[in-house]
Amino acid sequence: MSLSRTPIASQRLRRHRRTKIIATLGPASSTTEIITRLFQTGADVFRLNFSHGSHEDHAARIASIREIEKRFDRPIGILADVQGPKLRVGRFAGGKVHLQTGQAFRLDLNPTPGDARRVNLPHPEIIAAAAINSHLLLDDGKLRLRVTHKRDDHLETEVIFGGPLSDRKGVNVPDVILPIPALTEKDRIDLDFALKAGVDYIGLSFVQRPEDVIEAKEIAAGRAWIMVKIEKPQALDNLDEIIRLSDAVMVARGDLGVELPPEEVPLAQKRIVRTARQMGKPVVVATQMLESMITAPAPTRAEASDVATAVFDGADAVMLSAETAAGQYPFEAVNIMDRIVARVEQDAGWRQITDAARPEPEGSASDAIASAARQVAHTIKAPAIAAFTDTGMTALRVARERPDCPILGLTPRDETARRLAVVWGVHAVVGQEIDSFTEATDQAREEARKENMAQPGEKIIVVAGVPFRQSGGTNMVHVAKV
Ligand code: PGA
Ligand code: MN
Repeated sequence: MSLSRTPIASQRLRRHRRTKIIATLGPASSTTEIITRLFQTGADVFRLNFSHGSHEDHAARIASIREIEKRFDRPIGILADVQGPKLRVGRFAGGKVHLQTGQAFRLDLNPTPGDARRVNLPHPEIIAAAAINSHLLLDDGKLRLRVTHKRDDHLETEVIFGGPLSDRKGVNVPDVILPIPALTEKDRIDLDFALKAGVDYIGLSFVQRPEDVIEAKEIAAGRAWIMVKIEKPQALDNLDEIIRLSDAVMVARGDLGVELPPEEVPLAQKRIVRTARQMGKPVVVATQMLESMITAPAPTRAEASDVATAVFDGADAVMLSAETAAGQYPFEAVNIMDRIVARVEQDAGWRQITDAARPEPEGSASDAIASAARQVAHTIKAPAIAAFTDTGMTALRVARERPDCPILGLTPRDETARRLAVVWGVHAVVGQEIDSFTEATDQAREEARKENMAQPGEKIIVVAGVPFRQSGGTNMVHVAKV
């Protein structure tokens, strides 16, 4: 399928905010009707969580999204989030046990179902890497165990914080560097499926080392952007290099918040967002943003503030997980997120903070042009900056400037338009392939008018790399009267 390349009479749906919204699909949001409504309510990108669901389920959702794109003539991003080496305990004979604080509990390699004294831990690498006094966190950190004895085939532990434990709950070992790659056998199969299905970004879970990113990029071979999920303290140790190698970044606060003490999470979030923005890589703040809306139609004040903080930090996008995947109020969650974001962006204080946090242009011609475009747009109060972009790079460098006005991302490529769905401030439109400067300014004027981003007589800024059809740097900024 291909997005429209011919002008259409009706105006396309346009968001009135710069920060984008990602909604995770799941059992509460699997039909075309529901996905359509989530899109209309404000979701710019949909996330498919490969920890759950069959390839058949994911294929059906991808088909729905591509259908919606066509119907609304708007590019929509699809994020395939692969599970990564998520560690889990095995099963219990009764499905569930209750661990008492202070009791002994054994984790072993024996696959028979567990009981209140022991359970299978089908990960010999954890048993090998753990040391006496290492902590194991179970079920998102709700239970905590301390290793007291270690053998080749099991760990003996003391329960520090007890509670209920059921089949296949997650295990985190924050103090231990695990000698495991970010891609499991399952991930490779999922990755192959997702790339063939034409998703736009791959969410790479539990990245620890730069090599993990290099490997995923080799497999993707340009077919999708690699979005690294920062959820291990080890990734924070290699943060600059990991982000430099990636196409996009997610602050994956779910697992990060288990692996780090809670007081470290806000600072880690700020550091990750700042580093990504400095490098001009799209950055997403994720997990528990409106968590209480899984079962309630309105958020807590703290959650509303959390979304606002991510917008103030300058994130490209904010994400909903269980709120839209499994919650009772998926539309309300997207709606309130849209409203919080839009409200913050109307605030003069937000603009001031955004201007104060702007990173210096890096030493390239592209950055010099992006910076100049932002300044000219500001001085003449231009209603839009049109950025011609093949790979998305020009639009990304303009977005890095966080200009006053929206960015019209013009590209001949569907996949570029879709990828730009996650990028701050970019309204992407698929247009004809351009050969000359005159064609470019004509297209920019026409699309800006059609998208209602500029009125006749207003002046917009046009940014491009000339000559066209040659990949290379952005080198032109021009003022065009609509
Ligand atoms: P997950 O990733 O939902 O796949 O665990 C996000 C997070 O950990 O925050
Ligand atoms: Mn995670």
